Amino acid sequence: MQFKFRLGTKAYFGADCLKNNKEEIAAAGARCMIVTGRSSGKASGALDDVVSVLDELSIDYYIFDRVENNPSLDNVKEGGRAAREFSADFIIGIGGGSPLDASKAIAVLAVNDMNPVELFKNSFPVEPLPILAIPTTAGTGSEVTPYSILTRPDVETKMSFGNDQTFPKIAFLDAKYTTSMNRDITVNTAVDALSHAVEGYLTKRSTPLSDTMALEAISVFGSCIRNLVDNDFYMDMREKLLYASMLAGMVISQTGTSIVHGMGYPLTYFKDVPHGKANGLLMTEYLRFNYDNQTEKINNILNALKIRDMDEFEKIMDKLIVNDLILSEDEYVKFSRQSEKHKSVNYNIKPVTYDDILNIYKKSLSK
Ligand code: NAP
Ligand code: FE
Repeated sequence: MQFKFRLGTKAYFGADCLKNNKEEIAAAGARCMIVTGRSSGKASGALDDVVSVLDELSIDYYIFDRVENNPSLDNVKEGGRAAREFSADFIIGIGGGSPLDASKAIAVLAVNDMNPVELFKNSFPVEPLPILAIPTTAGTGSEVTPYSILTRPDVETKMSFGNDQTFPKIAFLDAKYTTSMNRDITVNTAVDALSHAVEGYLTKRSTPLSDTMALEAISVFGSCIRNLVDNDFYMDMREKLLYASMLAGMVISQTGTSIVHGMGYPLTYFKDVPHGKANGLLMTEYLRFNYDNQTEKINNILNALKIRDMDEFEKIMDKLIVNDLILSEDEYVKFSRQSEKHKSVNYNIKPVTYDDILNIYKKSLSK
């Protein structure tokens, strides 16, 4: 056995974990830039809680609440400039993956005089500002990963950067901040978490330790799956989904994702499909494609989910994620060409060709 395991985040999990551990915020600095989306900070209640803790600790703060979904380079450039002008000592990111990922880019840009496109070189002369992360979706696990995924109009896709310096220093995971998500955001983000665990488990880069976490994440997701199908959301289940998404984030922080994510990016970039939904549309055919090569591991996934076979998996996924996309022949070709070049293709254990990718798209999206 040979592997590296590095997790750069101290995670606090549970009800009121922010208020109960405010000494961590007191120790972070005197000037805080809060980075959040247009609505999620307020809707989740997390922004109010953060502001009340900062007031209590007499920490100055500036609220940057303009993070877009799937943030662009221009969006994080604006945030970086605001953090620099405010002379922030640290960042608190509140939101789904979009604001948390933006926090990482802003933390770098606040102290490094670089064009956002240089973020992807993954080399930052000055140590980025510390990031404290509060997830309001249970999906990306961005609170425990070093990755920041940004939209790049110059190359017409989404790309990620991140290194050991961009792990959030601290994560506060409190499921009450996820209760304001509607049905679609809840399901799409939960499916993203499942996708992280499944792809991390099946990639060449998986390790014995990440596999343990992946199977636990899949099994916890499995215990929620019937409730997700029935739109029966309750607090205990929200907490389980947040736990599963954190575990799955820990998995991909070691393994990265795989071709589901690589193929999902064109669907988001060109067709505006939410990130988790894009993964959910592709996951069944990705598993079917890999089944002959990874039979034992895929059977382990089905067992952990307490699902009989791939046919039952497909039925459940089709209930969770409904396909409303119609792609033209040109789009199939364009998206397959783009995905073929994505680095994740190299990490799929079974070799993947252009025709395989095209087939996965067609089978997934022609239902
Ligand atoms: P998101 O883009 O952050 O948010 C989706 C929508 O949900 C937004 O409209 C958001 O509002 C809203 N929302 C968030 N929390 C809410 C709450 N508690 N109540 C009500 N509405 C809420 O979605 P996401 O799926 O969490 O993140 C997706 C992004 O993360 C993508 O860019 C994806 O590529 C990236 N990602 C990152 C990693 C990683 O490791 N870093 C892994 C997978 C995916 P606002 O508009 O106010 O924000
Ligand atoms: Fe994802």
